[in-house]
Amino acid sequence: MTQDRRPDRQAAARRALEAEGLDALLVTHLPNIRYLTGFTGTSALLLITPERTVFISDFRYESQAEQEVGASAAVEIDRASVWDRLARTVAAAGVGTLGLEAQSLTLHDAERVAAMPRMRVQSTSGIIERLRVIKDPDEVDAIRRAAALAAAALDQVLPSVRPGETELAVAARLEAALRERGSEWHPFQTIVASGPRSALPHARTSTRTIERGDWLLLDFGAQVDGYCADLTRTIVAGARADARQRAVYETVRAAQQRALSGVQAGMTGREADALARDLIAARGFGDAFGHSLGHGLGLEVHEAPRLAATATDPLPAHAVVTVEPGVYLPGWGGVRLEDDVYLSPDGPVCLSDNRTDLIELMRE
Ligand code: ZN
Ligand code: ZN
Repeated sequence: MTQDRRPDRQAAARRALEAEGLDALLVTHLPNIRYLTGFTGTSALLLITPERTVFISDFRYESQAEQEVGASAAVEIDRASVWDRLARTVAAAGVGTLGLEAQSLTLHDAERVAAMPRMRVQSTSGIIERLRVIKDPDEVDAIRRAAALAAAALDQVLPSVRPGETELAVAARLEAALRERGSEWHPFQTIVASGPRSALPHARTSTRTIERGDWLLLDFGAQVDGYCADLTRTIVAGARADARQRAVYETVRAAQQRALSGVQAGMTGREADALARDLIAARGFGDAFGHSLGHGLGLEVHEAPRLAATATDPLPAHAVVTVEPGVYLPGWGGVRLEDDVYLSPDGPVCLSDNRTDLIELMRE
């Protein structure tokens, strides 16, 4: 039995909105609503006032809201319009200044809220997201289970990969294995990129046929209890690695190991990023690592904090982040290795298997 964290999370949200000088916060970003109430559906509004938490949804979610939200909020189902219901609720609560989540609300809906009588709206950013950075033990455990599931799916699929099949065929088997093993959904579009296409950091999985000796880069995720894992492995298909492949791979691997063991709560995102970047630059590939080292992981696959040269805030203890250096050489190919790390107060704890010995698939 896991502990119900929703009351503590809502109490923290109330302290945060008080600090921002708000009478209430309208939460519209669905991962935030899930975090505060447990609701997993795709349509809801959540109003947090100093006294109450009111969850508003429509007819489709009547029984689901009852089950998932339970007593964590007053559930109001409106068959006509959730926005009219919100207007009545904020009026009854006497809300003077209502915070809106700028990153999630459309301009259309923001104007609709701003038109509600006797109330001011204020744009806010990251109030709930900042709470979500600090993971509790159940959240860390869910990410660990998602990472184990993803690794097991890859283990199942890799022995069947052959030169002569397409990237999409490999992605289809990998996605099926993820789902069969219990992943709720693919948290992002699975990337299977072969040969020169592995040099595209965010390649789209294509109909390209994998050739002997190609790099095969697989970036894929799993979701368990809402929490995401995000892994990347790069292998050689159908042949032994050549000398250049080996040199690039060992560079990325050494950079990743250095960052995985060195990343600490309290250092800045920039310092964490430099753990990998400095090593890659020292080996002459500095220009070939064009993205940041990693990102936070949780109910969303990309969340705070960032491990990037532009991130000057200290990394909080109890955050979960990815560590994913890469070297991309246009026309030749690229290597990226990605694992998921919990920043415990005592040091980094890798939640994924970090099995990054170079794999050379020798089957024809
Ligand atoms: Zn990834
Ligand atoms: Zn990632």
